[in-house]
Amino acid sequence: MSTTETTMEKIVSLCKRRGFVFQGSEIYGGLKGTWDLGPLGVALNNNIKREWWKMFVEDREDMYGLDAAILMNAKVWEASGHTGAGFCDPLVEDTKTGERYRADHLLKDAGIAADGLTIDDIDRLIAEHGVLSPKGNPLSKARQFNMMFETTIGATAGPAGLVYLRPETAQGIFVNFKNVVDTMSPKLPFGIAQIGKAFRNEIAPRDFLFRVREFEQMEIEYFVKEGEWEVRFEALRQDIWKWFDHLGLRREKVREYDVPENDLAHYSRRTIDFEYDYPGKGFDELAGFAYRTDHDLRSHQTASGVSLEYTEPDGTKFIPHVLEPSFGVGRALTAVLCEAYTEDEMNGEVRSYLKLPVHLAPYRACVSPLLKNKPQLVEKAREVFLVLKKEFGNIAWDDNGNIGKRYRRHDEIGTPACIVIDFDTLGEENPANQDTVTIRNRDTGAQERVAITELVNKLTIATV
Ligand code: ATP
Repeated sequence: MSTTETTMEKIVSLCKRRGFVFQGSEIYGGLKGTWDLGPLGVALNNNIKREWWKMFVEDREDMYGLDAAILMNAKVWEASGHTGAGFCDPLVEDTKTGERYRADHLLKDAGIAADGLTIDDIDRLIAEHGVLSPKGNPLSKARQFNMMFETTIGATAGPAGLVYLRPETAQGIFVNFKNVVDTMSPKLPFGIAQIGKAFRNEIAPRDFLFRVREFEQMEIEYFVKEGEWEVRFEALRQDIWKWFDHLGLRREKVREYDVPENDLAHYSRRTIDFEYDYPGKGFDELAGFAYRTDHDLRSHQTASGVSLEYTEPDGTKFIPHVLEPSFGVGRALTAVLCEAYTEDEMNGEVRSYLKLPVHLAPYRACVSPLLKNKPQLVEKAREVFLVLKKEFGNIAWDDNGNIGKRYRRHDEIGTPACIVIDFDTLGEENPANQDTVTIRNRDTGAQERVAITELVNKLTIATV
């Protein structure tokens, strides 16, 4: 049972203390909107991506994988609308300090509905409600700010070499639609999935990994016949819920927000934001799910002059419509950590631990000798460690401090099982226990003796 409240501060502090997430470029004072994943963070992040890929690509027959380049021909972003107003956020400046803010966020923070507003609406509302900057100073007029990072390709600078860091992985999928159809001959409905980095020059990065300037996305473009979009949308909606279950997110902590019509992109007929109840922040976007009609393929067909039609077995040609589930890896990782963070009382002390699902935990188990200065214990423990490491990969070796400290450390990083090799294992105390070890359960603290020969099987089937 949780004894105290989970806060974002506790999670950020655990992440730093235990090697999950560090501030980007920390020794130089950091770089706003960037974070680095430490040894345990990268393990958790990779587990999330691997499970996603397994669930949405490998376990299905209607999905194809892709890994497109981050740098793409600038014409892609003109055709997709990203170079125009469609990919801008409203920016205001503090007139005294020059600090920049998202105008819609300032309005929301002041309790004013800010969806679907024009720049003029924003200026009017700021004036009407006397909204000030967080520093208490008057705000400048709002203007549109494009979030794409620009860079130049090749040795000569200038407009000809202008390229962008992709702000989403989705366009890499659309421009490869024809390649996938030509090489794999998929039948509708089918999806193309991709995991990769995306970059957005967010005006005001904030809330840990929630709003950053460099992040990872896991996206699917699911191509359907126009007349079937509603049934396919519903089926994918259920699959998305199953994904959140698999991440261990309780259903009451996730909700759907049906984006109102006046806030839908002009080509979208339905968009659902899946929101998670982040501690101290409340419900906010975890993933998006949009029906985008045939807008993207049609725009690329027009701009490139290359046919992006799909041909039915009977020869009928048409541009498929598309459903887009889009997940941010960092937001999923944050939700998983918030969900897993637990405080309880054990042996009269408050302990904090991560109740991570086995398939996400950075380490599957930890192996320790009871004492590190007894060579026979260490030798036996190394034997067990190497067998398990060969089998599972993510097995930790820990002989630092006393056993209690090791348990506490592994509770805090979410290791589901701690295995200890003691004098019984060597047959020195109770011969009946020779070649058995103790396994301690992270969540209950309960220990049981298990034969070494049973360990692999035990760890394979255990869910905690
Ligand atoms: P928001 O409204 O929160 O800015 P969005 O609607 O612009 O998000 P999408 O363009 O739908 O986001 O991107 C899909 C997913 O990518 C989001 O649901 C989120 O998980 C992730 N994402 C988008 N922007 C960021 C960011 N700056 N930092 C971290 N993750 C992000």
